[in-house]
Amino acid sequence: MTADPVTASSAAPGAEYADTASAAYQAALQVIESVEPRIAAATRKELADQRDSLKLIASENYASPAVLLTMGTWLSDKYAEGTIGHRFYAGCQNVDVVESVAAEHARELFGAPYAYAQPHSGIDANLVAFWAILATRVEAPGLAELGAKHVNDLSEADWESLRNKLGNQRLLGMSLDAGGHLTHGFRPNISGKMFHQRSYGTDPETGLLDYDKLAAAAREFKPLILVGGYSAYPRRVNFAKLREIADEVGATLMVDMAHFAGLVAGKVFTGDENPVPFAHVTTTTTHKSLRGPRGGLVLAQPEYSDAVDKGCPMVLGGPLSHVMAAKAVALAEARQPSFQAYAQRVADNAKSLAEGFLNRGARLVTGGTDNHIVLLDVTSFGLTGRQAESALLDAGVVTNRNSIPADPNGAWYTSGIRFGTPALTTRGFGAAEFDRVAELVVDVLNNTQPTQASSGPSKAKYTLADGTAERIHAASAEMLAANPLYPGLTL
Ligand code: PLP
Repeated sequence: MTADPVTASSAAPGAEYADTASAAYQAALQVIESVEPRIAAATRKELADQRDSLKLIASENYASPAVLLTMGTWLSDKYAEGTIGHRFYAGCQNVDVVESVAAEHARELFGAPYAYAQPHSGIDANLVAFWAILATRVEAPGLAELGAKHVNDLSEADWESLRNKLGNQRLLGMSLDAGGHLTHGFRPNISGKMFHQRSYGTDPETGLLDYDKLAAAAREFKPLILVGGYSAYPRRVNFAKLREIADEVGATLMVDMAHFAGLVAGKVFTGDENPVPFAHVTTTTTHKSLRGPRGGLVLAQPEYSDAVDKGCPMVLGGPLSHVMAAKAVALAEARQPSFQAYAQRVADNAKSLAEGFLNRGARLVTGGTDNHIVLLDVTSFGLTGRQAESALLDAGVVTNRNSIPADPNGAWYTSGIRFGTPALTTRGFGAAEFDRVAELVVDVLNNTQPTQASSGPSKAKYTLADGTAERIHAASAEMLAANPLYPGLTL
């Protein structure tokens, strides 16, 4: 098995530059220190904190030193609004190379006819996609033509009239408590304001996507856009079925694979589980399971590519050339065979974590996982998600609370904890370590008591039994030491 560039040991790719990277970071931090010591200190502290904690946030990872170093260059100084070969600024010849290489790697890696490497984040990629779909499919008047004020001043009535003027466009996406993302039509997000939205959920018994119900909702609602993809659904999705449903009702299928792009890139999700051949437009982040810099990508079928290509300046500010360069480096890494081995380990480790929980009597949404996410229902521990998240953090286990379907505690306190395996898998954790992680998490939760407030139980307060945090810290320190983060970097 080939090791990967982040956990590079002496035999691994990346080992050859570990000393150089270390020297580069030592020098960079000295320079930063001479200007603003507090930033140098916070940067050093962040590395120490990440080295010392069990990072189980499903949307985070550790990028390689090559990816991180690529972001710290003068490419950042160049303005390059527009697109490759067609910029609103002079002197963009090098940025053209950077963007072309990033797009080429993205096309090759995902087998997409067209790739757009500019979006600054996943939300921006989704906005570009919405714009491109509207621009391609709807003859809509512009804001000025509508006589509209600045968008920030629009009242609900203004939004309603804007929607009407845009032709009452409809969007159907996965509901937030079933695992969808807020940009998939959630009300407080712009996607819920600009579209008439409806959401599909999961089966109340099994927690699984119900394709028949989804098809029935699509037939009744007739959306312009059917959004697939999720942030907290622990299962694979059949994108061939989603495309069939979209075709039947004349919808454009947009899939947001922000969370699982690494599993697509690593060929764990193939056939019907790979969204790229089925979606008209696919969006993603580059920093989650894909293990690149913070950023986004849009992949599109040819009929949408012209509109996507106008993302900047239509939707986006000037491209971050240094980040596009880092995307190119990360995508090149993801095209290596070692990335496929990594992606498979991410999925195998999630299974081990899920089994570890189930064997210790915990309840999981959908009863398990077949991707990189495990969603634990903490109500059986008598806790809210908020209490569990805080208690785990006290013990050095970094997670995030998450709604579960029909959540009795709402979207703020929640009843779930979402776990993800991409980051610790990058560090080298395997099945045995993830089983041990499950044991430690259950230990913390069994030793956490909700605290009663004078007016009923507080959904945020808790006490952790004496000695628990110390015991968990000591146990995880052993595993963390055996799987060091950026081992070549001496900082
Ligand atoms: N789409 C999905 C499915 C996500 O899970 C997320 C982030 O959590 C995003 C989009 C937004 O990504 P970003 O934070 O880069 O804007």
